[in-house]
Amino acid sequence: MDLANWHEYLKIREKEIEELLEKLLSDASKNNSEDTPSRENNDFADTASELVDSERINLEILRLKEGLAEIRHAFHKIEHYPERFARCEKCSKEIEEARMKAKPWARYCIRCKEQIERTKKVK
Ligand SMILES: [Zn+2]
Repeated sequence: MDLANWHEYLKIREKEIEELLEKLLSDASKNNSEDTPSRENNDFADTASELVDSERINLEILRLKEGLAEIRHAFHKIEHYPERFARCEKCSKEIEEARMKAKPWARYCIRCKEQIERTKKVK
């Protein structure tokens, strides 16, 4: 794929994430504002699972926002440093195409990525 293709591909992924994010945000606000109707069987298990649910939504929202930031970084690279796109920001080797397809905003090759993850865990 050439840069124009990647750009288009990123646009599609960006739109997908934005739509998903919008949906989750409206779900999250519904969860917060909705009056909890008094249930006949108001047991704790129910409340607990609701809490887990909104926590899960919040985590997902965070993950999507990070994804969007990464995508914008990729657009920035395409625009300003096209020669660096699809190249590892650490070792500047070309990033595997399969990896780029799964994650077109990837900054690092799989090797450097694994290294970074490892050092994060040590901390
Ligand atoms: Zn690398």
